[in-house]
Amino acid sequence: MPALTISTVYLISGANRGIGFGLTEVLAKRPGTVVFAGARDPTNATALNALAEKYPHSVHVLKLTSGSTEDNKSAVVEIEKTVGQLDVVIANAATGGYYGSLLTTPGEEFLNHFNINTLGPVTLFQAVHSLLIKSPSGAPHFCVISSAVGSTELGLSFGAAAYSASKAAVNHLTKIIHTEHEADGIIATAIHPGWVATDMGNFGASSLGMTEAPVTLAESVAGILSHIDGATRSEKSGKFWNFARTSGNF
Ligand code: NDP
Repeated sequence: MPALTISTVYLISGANRGIGFGLTEVLAKRPGTVVFAGARDPTNATALNALAEKYPHSVHVLKLTSGSTEDNKSAVVEIEKTVGQLDVVIANAATGGYYGSLLTTPGEEFLNHFNINTLGPVTLFQAVHSLLIKSPSGAPHFCVISSAVGSTELGLSFGAAAYSASKAAVNHLTKIIHTEHEADGIIATAIHPGWVATDMGNFGASSLGMTEAPVTLAESVAGILSHIDGATRSEKSGKFWNFARTSGNF
């Protein structure tokens, strides 16, 4: 059998369900693509493990807990050992677990959201940086799946002050990655995936009496990948995008 030629290597956090799983499922079918799919509890990631069994050359499941230095380091070692390159990192894992206004949200809920949604992507970037800058593509991409409620221009929280503040902070830090890593050629973007029919999106929808969030998983995944595919630093980096391919302000 001829050796497989690897074109693009991805690392995706929170890949066991929702948008992370949807991205992994689509990328697994692309020739020459390898996806390192992070899950905080790989032993219970049934659908993801089934996908890895179906596409053993494309999908590798890793333990990846947001903000865990140990997991981040082990992931990088595993990627280096297995394929020796990394081109695109999608920092997707997040929690939206607490609904409350700024006045009623306890400090520990702010800390929990900042730990997972803000420091998670930042510490992941710190761990993968040395590998990303060696990307043979010459255009390594660190893409954060953020949220429109993190836009300070829009200034909305939809009743989730801690979540919205954690996304605003990660948007700012994504812009800092863009600014501090010009010489590395790193593309750093944040993207709103739409209001998507996943566990998180549908929880929000049900609280408004809707049966399902309006954007399908397939639409969101297609939009996110069309944002990432062929991205250049001059066009995309340092900007806040949405899945429908428009950019806005952080
Ligand atoms: P889901 O709730 O469906 O999935 C969240 C994923 O994040 C799961 O894989 C979950 O793993 C993982 N995760 C949660 N906490 C941690 C942690 N501490 N360490 C590692 N992984 C963790 O959400 P979505 O797929 O809808 O959301 C994906 C991204 O899109 C998030 O960044 C979210 O903020 C963003 N987003 C989603 C919207 C929507 O409408 N769905 C709207 C705007 C933004 P586990 O199964 O172990 O809990």
